[in-house]
Amino acid sequence: MSRTIIVSNRLPTKAQRTEEGLHFTPSEGGLATGLGSIYRADGNVWVGWPGVEIDDPAEQQFVTEELRHDSMAPVFLTQDEIRDYYEGFSNEVLWPTFHYFSQHAVYEQAYWESYVTVNRKFCQAVLALAGPDDTIWVHDYQLLLLPQMLRQERPEASIGFFLHIPFPSHELIRVLPWRRELLEGMLGADLLGFHTYGYMRHFLSSAAQLLGYPNQNGLIEVGQRSVLVDAFPMGIDYDKYAQVAESEEAREAELLYRDALNDSRVILSIDRLDYTKGIAERLRAYELMLQRYPEWRGRVTLLMLVVPSRDQVEKYRALKVEIDELVGRINADYRTISWTPIQYFYRSFPLEHLSGLYRLAEVALVTPMRDGMNLVAKEFVASKGELPGVLILSERAGAARELSDALIINPTDTLQLAEAMHEALVMPEEEQLLRMSNMQALVSTYNVYHWVRLFMDRLAYIKIKQQTLA
Ligand code: UDP
Repeated sequence: MSRTIIVSNRLPTKAQRTEEGLHFTPSEGGLATGLGSIYRADGNVWVGWPGVEIDDPAEQQFVTEELRHDSMAPVFLTQDEIRDYYEGFSNEVLWPTFHYFSQHAVYEQAYWESYVTVNRKFCQAVLALAGPDDTIWVHDYQLLLLPQMLRQERPEASIGFFLHIPFPSHELIRVLPWRRELLEGMLGADLLGFHTYGYMRHFLSSAAQLLGYPNQNGLIEVGQRSVLVDAFPMGIDYDKYAQVAESEEAREAELLYRDALNDSRVILSIDRLDYTKGIAERLRAYELMLQRYPEWRGRVTLLMLVVPSRDQVEKYRALKVEIDELVGRINADYRTISWTPIQYFYRSFPLEHLSGLYRLAEVALVTPMRDGMNLVAKEFVASKGELPGVLILSERAGAARELSDALIINPTDTLQLAEAMHEALVMPEEEQLLRMSNMQALVSTYNVYHWVRLFMDRLAYIKIKQQTLA
């Protein structure tokens, strides 16, 4: 029987070290939920790093056993690999380059060497599990070399690859010293998936300009093998968000925040700490809105959640300081004894509270400089149910390709963003409801289950087509 092996940098379960030893917590990410439907089915398995350094062989054995019961297989990384492969090459070279922040990239040969080593480690882990008929689905930028490594060992295997971040113009890819190896690595797959047609076209032009591979309707001939390149915008588990938003806990959280904010109107912003998210620019736009429309002072609050992330990387520490200072300065300049313009939280929130905030907010501000998709935008829409609300969305988030009923803005245009906030706050309820229900129809149809099905169907299709073309 053919099985599916999912491979990603992190497993959907995190191991954590506590005083009582190692314990496991499930990750709530969209990928885990969406793929949960397939990886727990007969014999399927998920391969990845359990999120913590474990070098004691007895502990490794224990973790392997525990995860096996839940259809997972761990790849253990050393401290040096976490530093050079994960924080180094993945987060200081590929992440900035693919998000058009090449100036933040650090081209360290040691990072690259570790990246190759760890991709090989993943390859060995997959080969130890995969039978000849199994389908292998590799995820994201930490594992760009893995498809080709697998292909060399298993020329006939069904290998899919999905990139969860943007794929930039070939002008950015060409800057990378290891551009050829990275592109060839991806082309080991049979199917390459991206969130948008734009990213897909950028990949095709990189393959043409930097490797000399032409394509026809998204098909690239690599040796004797046809590789299909296509767009699959990832969705969310719509019903889950819609249901949690109706729950008692979410309603209670909503009331709690509403009372605490003295019934002020709420603009909500939720991101991981990241320079790609446009957090500082958003704060400046909010300040400009308060200057241009003083009538909102005392009547509107920006509720800003920043989830701690990658705090070992220097750029992220510096960004944290910049945001702290900006929030402090704006609050000091505009606050009154009974009103704080920005309520800023630097921590993560449980789902029920996020859901309460999605219900509460009249406006959601999703204004990244670059974002592969952005799931917060879709979660806001799914959580609104029959409630009005306006989504302000950056044209440079993948989600903007689908959510055309949002107020679409250019996140570097501070004035446009300030005006959009005012427009959202005065938008008639009827218009809000109409736009929201259009977006809900789309987000509920193209949910994460649909995304998984579509990808798997296309992978099966290209395998059959390869045989007829051979
Ligand atoms: N999120 C969370 N806890 C929080 C705030 C956000 O788990 O306190 C989740 C949020 O619900 C969303 C994800 O983090 O599913 C962020 O995904 P997105 O695509 O917006 O951005 P990414 O962090 O992947 O760049």
